Amino acid sequence: MAKAEIIDGKAFAAGLRARIGAEVKALGGAHGLTPGVAVVLVGDDPASQVYVRNKSRQAQDTGMQSFIHRLPADTSQDALLVQIDQLNRDPAVNGILVQLPLPDQIDEAAVLGALDPAKDVDGFHPMNVGRLVSGADGTVPCTPLGCLMLLKDRLDSLAGLKALVVGRSNIVGKPMASLLLRESCTITIAHSRTRDLAGECRQADILVAAVGQPEMVKGDWIKPGATVIDVGINRIDAGGGKTRIVGDVDFAEAVKTAGAITPVPGGVGPMTIACLLLNTLSAACRQHDLPAPTV
Ligand code: NDP
Repeated sequence: MAKAEIIDGKAFAAGLRARIGAEVKALGGAHGLTPGVAVVLVGDDPASQVYVRNKSRQAQDTGMQSFIHRLPADTSQDALLVQIDQLNRDPAVNGILVQLPLPDQIDEAAVLGALDPAKDVDGFHPMNVGRLVSGADGTVPCTPLGCLMLLKDRLDSLAGLKALVVGRSNIVGKPMASLLLRESCTITIAHSRTRDLAGECRQADILVAAVGQPEMVKGDWIKPGATVIDVGINRIDAGGGKTRIVGDVDFAEAVKTAGAITPVPGGVGPMTIACLLLNTLSAACRQHDLPAPTV
């Protein structure tokens, strides 16, 4: 039985980081400019701590400056907004990322809306959301941007392909659908109220699963030859007191039908941080009226 090509997001992300590193070096040489990214973490959620450490380490590895601001879990919204205001005005900071989720006492929309859109390297500010939807230049959220890069690397053209995005969150599903529409795909967005999800999946040339349900998309839901991008990161019981990470797609079955598929881990995950670095580099260039990086 034919087996799908495995899309190696880890290798692609490593290559992208190397190209970003070269651009950062060139910027320093030509303009004395070192891009800087500030990460704001409120509280001590263990997963968020790991993400923030990884983001900071990878930023430094590419030659960028990284500033981590750790605030206690009981930080008030006003105190967080003061912190954001300081970062908005700090010329050494080209990109600001507020690690989500935020504690309950803080209104996420108010915080994201307070970011300088030019420094919003997550692409969650309403102005960047609007730019994406209207087709204007702006910052695109990191995870969907990473997915699109993997798709464009694999497919000669996306135009006219049927794309199904399962999940409609603001950070993955909706921006992913907007990006695919921009590439002239015919898009469908599925969610928890979708009728006959399996039938929708079976029509998709491109299937992006961003659901948060372990191995929910079954192998016989995949159209033969389809390109499958699995965004899901789910920790499941592996027996013997151990856990393991799986995606939203039943990889072992889907790999028999798909034309290409991202593994979990090692697919979309590494692309997210690489795209954060790319967005920071792009933001630094824009803020200094320099051409966009060509990585
Ligand atoms: P959300 O929980 O915000 O959204 C999940 C979406 O899936 C919702 O739109 C929901 O529908 C839909 N959904 C839930 N259950 C079903 C179902 N049974 N059938 C169809 N649709 C369903 O999740 P995120 O978008 O934030 O994340 C999705 C996954 O991607 C998670 O596993 C997350 O960990 C992972 N992730 C990975 C990243 C990476 O770097 N690789 C980055 C970000 C997320 P409805 O709107 O109707 O409730």
